Amino acid sequence: MKPVDLRSDTVTQPTAAMRAVMAAAEVGDDVFGDDPTVNALQARIAALLGKEAALFTPTGTQSNLCGLMAHCQRGDEFLVGQMAHTYRWEGGGAAVLGSIQPQPLPQQPDGSILLADIDAHIKPDDAHFARTRLLALENTWGGQVLPLPYIEEATALARRRGLATHLDGARVFNAAVASGVPVADIARPFDSVSVCFSKGLGAPAGSALVGSRALIARAHRVRKMLGGGMRQAGVLAAGALHALDHHVDRLAEDHAHARTLAEGLQGLPGVTVQAPQTNIVFIDLAPEKAAGVVERLRAAGVLCTGLYRLRFVTHLDISADDIARAVAVLRQTL
Ligand SMILES: *Cc1c(COP(=O)(O)O)cnc(C)c1O
Repeated sequence: MKPVDLRSDTVTQPTAAMRAVMAAAEVGDDVFGDDPTVNALQARIAALLGKEAALFTPTGTQSNLCGLMAHCQRGDEFLVGQMAHTYRWEGGGAAVLGSIQPQPLPQQPDGSILLADIDAHIKPDDAHFARTRLLALENTWGGQVLPLPYIEEATALARRRGLATHLDGARVFNAAVASGVPVADIARPFDSVSVCFSKGLGAPAGSALVGSRALIARAHRVRKMLGGGMRQAGVLAAGALHALDHHVDRLAEDHAHARTLAEGLQGLPGVTVQAPQTNIVFIDLAPEKAAGVVERLRAAGVLCTGLYRLRFVTHLDISADDIARAVAVLRQTL
């Protein structure tokens, strides 16, 4: 029997319909700006997020880095959550490749950074310090929706202090669908937003950075430097366009599956389930339950990641039956 793969929403297979539009995509050399499908995707995602322009990239890591390097020069600094992807999970690329110093800050349980912490870490204009240039937030973070009033306040503070703002919105469509807030409203307070097509949207690869025309022109140069200038990338862009047409509203199904999974795990001793807001379920295990648990679950046909804190991510290829099976296996194993 095929395992129930809840390791990530990146494990999805392109659907037959998606493969068909990818195979039929009209393409050109995107380094010359000649790929009509890439151009259509860039126009579409920019409009959806309410920005002037967009840049298609192979990965979200590259999209974030193009954004950071378009905002910041060598010797600049960005304020970022201690557990944010752009700081912790991207190989230190901003520092390694951009000579941009991260200033990591503690995050609250909802993913926010206290305004007082942001305020206190914006450095004065003094030769001792890196130039604080950018605030980077993440939404969703750990599957949680960053509250809109907080986003408004944090970005307003950043603007008041002369900083630019970037959103790592790898799963921003999950945030929009879960909260009922249009994705453009979530994007509006930010100068740039990175969004992934390869996560819950189910495309095989690709992300986009959106922002002003001037910012995206700078990011375009950075993308070339980072080796992200792809040629007939319209084959991938077609998958992303298809995902925007067909896989956004259905994210609500993934969220419902996550809730069903969480509810199904109630009442197990030594197991604490965090109520999911979107498509990610975290469960914390007492140490006596944790030994070899990922391997034991794998042997029983359920794939997840973690150690004491297990992570289960629902997605396009997970059905209600899969969730029922996962609940049964988890209850048995735990
Ligand atoms: C997945 C992800 C990214 C980008 O990841 P890639 O694997 O490089 O596409 C960025 N930020 C967050 C929050 C993510 O979950």
